[in-house]
Amino acid sequence: MVSGPSGVGKGTVCKLILSRNDDIKLSVSATTRTPRTEDTEGVTYYFKSKPEFEKMIEDTAFLEWAVYNGNYYGTPVAAVEENLNNGISVILEIDAQGALDVKKKRPDAVLIFIAPPDKNTLFERLKGRGTEDDEEISKRIAAADWELSQMEKYDYTVVNDDLDTAVINIENIMKSEKEKM
Ligand code: ADP
Ligand code: 5GP
Repeated sequence: MVSGPSGVGKGTVCKLILSRNDDIKLSVSATTRTPRTEDTEGVTYYFKSKPEFEKMIEDTAFLEWAVYNGNYYGTPVAAVEENLNNGISVILEIDAQGALDVKKKRPDAVLIFIAPPDKNTLFERLKGRGTEDDEEISKRIAAADWELSQMEKYDYTVVNDDLDTAVINIENIMKSEKEKM
């Protein structure tokens, strides 16, 4: 599981890891948030209405789910299990509530926290991405402190300063954890 405050670079880091490793896949979450221009249905998320998402909760279709900034986000359990059964490692790019929830159910899951070099850099990246309006950015900045306070509960912390270094560090953690199994 990979977590970290919004704008820290989780998506960027994970995309690079996936492009370099055939035996690692990303879990595609379901969400009720509005798609951004760079989103693709079934690739970045499965976009659901609130009633559709609530039906999936009822059907126990999620390994975990959480509310983040007023929207539902959840990890469909079937795809995760199928990949793991086929020897494929799965990255869950989810918030700290969800990650800690999964760790309780699956203690073998590895928690990796992506931390910013400093808060200023984090906010600059979030604003620089240009995908949220000012109100949404303020909410995400407000949520960042809580996310950062969860860092000590994680198995590993990787600072995303230089992108390539962060990617290599996470790949090394995943390799050594797989060897332990
Ligand atoms: P998250 O998925 O954590 O919300 P993103 O992957 O969307 O964050 O990254 C937020 C912004 O920061 C993007 O514009 C991305 O290009 C930039 N970014 C990510 N990692 C780095 C890095 N190591 N150095 C500089 N900019 C980065
Ligand atoms: P975004 O709207 O920027 O794509 O994601 C907002 C937050 O939701 C991020 O912290 C992201 O990691 C988290 N998130 C994405 N998918 C899931 C999920 O399936 N479950 C949980 N708990 N959080 C998720």
